[in-house]
Amino acid sequence: MHPDIPRFPVGAIDAHVHTRHSCDSDMAPADAVRAARARGLSAVVLAEHVDFDPADQGFGFYDTVAIDASIAHIRNSIFDIRVFKGVEITYQPQYEDAIREFIRAGRFDWVIGSVHLVGPDDISRPEQRERYFATRGQRQAYGAYLDEVERLAASGLFECLGHLDLCKRYGHRYYGPLDRDLFAPQLSRILGSVTAAGMHLELNTSGLRQEPGEPYPSLAVARQYLALGGDKLVLGSDAHSPEHVGYAFSEVRAMLDTE
Ligand SMILES: [Zn+2]
Ligand SMILES: [Zn+2]
Repeated sequence: MHPDIPRFPVGAIDAHVHTRHSCDSDMAPADAVRAARARGLSAVVLAEHVDFDPADQGFGFYDTVAIDASIAHIRNSIFDIRVFKGVEITYQPQYEDAIREFIRAGRFDWVIGSVHLVGPDDISRPEQRERYFATRGQRQAYGAYLDEVERLAASGLFECLGHLDLCKRYGHRYYGPLDRDLFAPQLSRILGSVTAAGMHLELNTSGLRQEPGEPYPSLAVARQYLALGGDKLVLGSDAHSPEHVGYAFSEVRAMLDTE
C-alpha cells in the first residue's frame, strides 16, 4: 500500500474507480481524474479489474503496460490531485497462489479484494443471476456470498475489502433489504477478520445509485466496524463513468458524522 493513502480523511480519496483499462468501462483515465478533481477530491485510485477465472468476462483483459503508461501520462499532465495505481482483484479461493504472485509483481499502491462470483455462479450475469437467486432463499444465497468474503478476509492477500455485500445488488429484487439479523454472526466474523488483519473496509457508494439504495455494506455495518475499533474506513464510488466519481461522498460522510 502506498503510505499516503491511509492519510487522506474519509471521503477525500475515491479508492475505487474503473477506466477503460477495465473490461466493463470506457471512461478515459484522464476524464476520471478530472472528474475527481472537479468533485473536490484530493486523490483517486484507478483500481482496474483483474480476473483469474478463464470463464470470467474480464479474464485476460488486464494490460499492465497500458495502465502504467496511462498513469504516467496523467501524473505528468494533471498536477493538483494525487493519482494512485490500484487494482480490484476478483477473489476466488482456488486462485490464491496466482493472486499472491500477481500482487507481488504488480507494485500496486492499493489492492482491493472483491467477491464477484459464488462458486461457479457469476451473479452479475442476468441468466445466472436468475438461476441463482430464484432457486434460493436469502439465507442461502447471501450466506454463500458472505462465506467467500470470509475466506477473502482470512486470506491475508488484500489491503482493502471491496463491497462487502454486493450480493444485495442482484438479490434485492428477490428479497428486498438485506436482513442483518440473519447474518449477524457472519458479519461479525468478517468485520473481526478485517480489523485483525489491518485491512481497510470499503464503503462502496455504488449501491446508492443501484437497486438496494444503500452502500455496500450499509451504514449500519460500517458503524458496527467503527464500534469494533476499526479505523480504516475508505469510500469507493466504483465509478465506470465520470459522473459517478466520488458519488454521494458528502452525503455518506454527513451520515457517518451525524448518527
Ligand atoms: Zn467489484
Ligand atoms: Zn469495481
